[in-house]
Amino acid sequence: MPSSSEQLFARALQLIPGGVNSPVRAFRSVGGAPFFTKSAQGATLTTADGRELIDFVCTWGPAIHGHNHPRIKAAIADALERGTSFGTPNPYEVEMAELIVSFFPSIQKVRMCSSGTEATMSAIRLARGFTKRDKIIKFAGCYHGHSDSLLVAAGSGALTHGNPDSAGVPAAFARETVVLPYNDTAALDAAFAANPGQIACVILEPYIGNVGFIKPDPGYLQHVRKVTAAHGTVLIFDEVMTGFRLARGGVQELEKITPDLTALGKIIGGGLPVGAFGGRADIMDYLAPLGPVYQAGTLSGNPLAMAAGIAQLRLLDEVKPYPRLDAMGLQLVGAARAAALAKGLPLQTPQVGSMLSLFFTPTPVRDMATALTSDAKLFGRFFRACLDGGVYLPPSAYEAWFLSTAHEGPAIDRACEVITSAIKSL
Ligand code: PMP
Repeated sequence: MPSSSEQLFARALQLIPGGVNSPVRAFRSVGGAPFFTKSAQGATLTTADGRELIDFVCTWGPAIHGHNHPRIKAAIADALERGTSFGTPNPYEVEMAELIVSFFPSIQKVRMCSSGTEATMSAIRLARGFTKRDKIIKFAGCYHGHSDSLLVAAGSGALTHGNPDSAGVPAAFARETVVLPYNDTAALDAAFAANPGQIACVILEPYIGNVGFIKPDPGYLQHVRKVTAAHGTVLIFDEVMTGFRLARGGVQELEKITPDLTALGKIIGGGLPVGAFGGRADIMDYLAPLGPVYQAGTLSGNPLAMAAGIAQLRLLDEVKPYPRLDAMGLQLVGAARAAALAKGLPLQTPQVGSMLSLFFTPTPVRDMATALTSDAKLFGRFFRACLDGGVYLPPSAYEAWFLSTAHEGPAIDRACEVITSAIKSL
């Protein structure tokens, strides 16, 4: 008798390409069929088959307070009473803009949209319109969503599934995207020298979360800021993952850097579809209706998404989660390192607060090339062993893990035991 998840997947395969609405969910790189989730609460997913799993994906980042938090649920229910979408400005949008600006000092003005993809795509169009230049620089392994100019040497599912350069992106578009290795200041300097006065923007995940988790070398981000400023190039930090997660004000707060524009998403929607981009007022005022750069959205600033996001952000200031999340992150990588040492397995464990990765490689990971030295087959076996033990990790060797405050206590302790015995079993 096939399980409920197996039955659902068989039905999905008939009608949805690959059975999923976002590729990484198909579990292709770790093997086996995906499970379906019927509900989620706190640190736990309940599958269609009735299994309870400790979840280190946290809906790919948004669930920093755990799943289905009562305060966020109540905020959505309250907004629902008033209607689901208005097509006019609404009061939540103003409150959300005020909150974002108070968390991110680099953001003077902000525009809401409905996904991280829209946020980065629109920020790039804005940078091009503002500078009247066409070329952009991105970094190998950084993923910024699935718009055309950004699916060049992309990370995340694009990398996991072997299409970092997607079919369907015109070569003429891809030629306007200069791809560089992350953490390589000489390559950045050379790209500016080779394209004088032509680079509209540099976009990066300041700490990468989409080829696994990677931190910058000391001084690297400061160098990127210095060079972009010197060339009149717009610096875009994609903090869709890291914003509100690694610190109140994202990586830019931790690194004391002021980007020109910032892309946000995930946490600001409290689990509902959302994105935002903002930054210098003189650049943002190039957007329609004030300026010549067009950008719009039927559901932008949607009242349910805004209400959920506002509740989530207000809760962040109340619960002060960052030291607690960091302690859990350290506990997790500490357990994994001890188990790997005992087993004689090489393991890299980059971690900041509630984001981390385990790379099965002796090589320190500092860019996409070194991330790819990790043993993806071994990761697949590790993933399966953890899943058998009731712990759900990102189903790819090239994705970051996420923690929530709801993992504190029994969930994190149990997860450390499962991870330890999974490593032992490899
Ligand atoms: N930027 C980053 C850094 C991301 O991690 C993602 C998605 N994981 C995106 C952009 C795209 O966001 P979305 O999936 O909401 O379009």
